[in-house]
Amino acid sequence: MNTIDVYIISLSKSFQFSLHSSDGFQRLWNALMVLFMATKKEDRFQLESLQQKDENFENRLMVFIDKFKDSDPKINRLKTNFDSIPTDKYFFVQFTKEVSKDDSFKMCNYLLAKEEGIDYEKMEKEINDSIGELRSNYNISIFGFQEKSFIGELDKNKRVCRFCKKKQPETSFKKIAHSISEALGNKLIVTYDECDKCNYEFGTGIENDLVLFLDLYRNFFGVKGKNGIPSLKGENYIIRNDGKKQITIEHYLKEGEESSNDFNFTLKNNRFITYLNIYKTLVKYALSVLEPKEIPQFNETIGWIRGEIEFSHLPKIAILQNYDFFRTHPMVTLYKRKDDDHSIPNLVCEFRFTFFVFVFIIPEKEEFIYTEDFYDNFWNLFKHYKDVKGWSFKKFSNPNPIKFNVNLNFKKSDK
Ligand SMILES: [Zn+2]
Repeated sequence: MNTIDVYIISLSKSFQFSLHSSDGFQRLWNALMVLFMATKKEDRFQLESLQQKDENFENRLMVFIDKFKDSDPKINRLKTNFDSIPTDKYFFVQFTKEVSKDDSFKMCNYLLAKEEGIDYEKMEKEINDSIGELRSNYNISIFGFQEKSFIGELDKNKRVCRFCKKKQPETSFKKIAHSISEALGNKLIVTYDECDKCNYEFGTGIENDLVLFLDLYRNFFGVKGKNGIPSLKGENYIIRNDGKKQITIEHYLKEGEESSNDFNFTLKNNRFITYLNIYKTLVKYALSVLEPKEIPQFNETIGWIRGEIEFSHLPKIAILQNYDFFRTHPMVTLYKRKDDDHSIPNLVCEFRFTFFVFVFIIPEKEEFIYTEDFYDNFWNLFKHYKDVKGWSFKKFSNPNPIKFNVNLNFKKSDK
């Protein structure tokens, strides 16, 4: 049996499909050439890699599916896949099983430039000036941008939990493990090889500290978790977001406490937060989307997340709050070093939630000291972050729970 691999790259969804032909390779190949409007020159097909999903393409696709649906019932999935590319948008077609991250990055940039009417050459130059050096050192992968990502082994019987290394029947994989906490609005990123036990332990343990840290913003920005937008309750307040652009803050005064006219008050919580757990959770997110073959390099890190070992020295976390970076869905970008250059970090992660950007190094070894020089070296290489103003660099290494209060300042508007 002959197989033809096809890879589609678009801004809304990229996907791969393998077509099987039981009754002749040539018939399938010819039909594909018609689908993608190839022209024939001196007995050879010439095909434009850049395609448009217009009405004509949709019609040709239906004809193609009709022709082969009896011999390959799975071909119907093509329609579902192409349906996720909006009408009249452009995409690239490649006859291959896999497209390198660099090539995919370039093609997506081309599509983006085309969509926004920007000169691609100029855009490429700007990208190169900004992250060219970075891209020669790191493989970059993005999760949670638009399409769904499923990480790890699909077959439950073959799954080994990336965190505890157990497989069935020692553990189970019945629940959906969200790579990023569902409470932060993650609907797109799922890790197959995180077992139910680890999922429960992280979800009821370290992940709560990050969720609490971001609680106010979950409410203000209307981020929907499993049970809708959460109301916030503390010792002296309740904040409700009705999801229709109305937020109500009820602030209660204690006996003898005077109300202030400038609406300046502290929201008191009876909850505690552990900053080290926030770091661990961020690192857990990064490791949840890492390719399974890279996981063994971070076994010591996993021991640290699970509380089995301690790292005596941790680098700072860079945090930015900027509306230009606003995301409605949480997003993770991984930078995995291509070679063994130990003067730069092996794995760096960017986590975006509403108007927050967290950029952090994945700590790897107990004995490693993150010197100022090492950190500067790293930050200088990540020019696209460095060029943005407003970053703060904070330590998240305190292992002790501390009471978590938020100060809110309101100004009266003249309007
Ligand atoms: Zn596990």
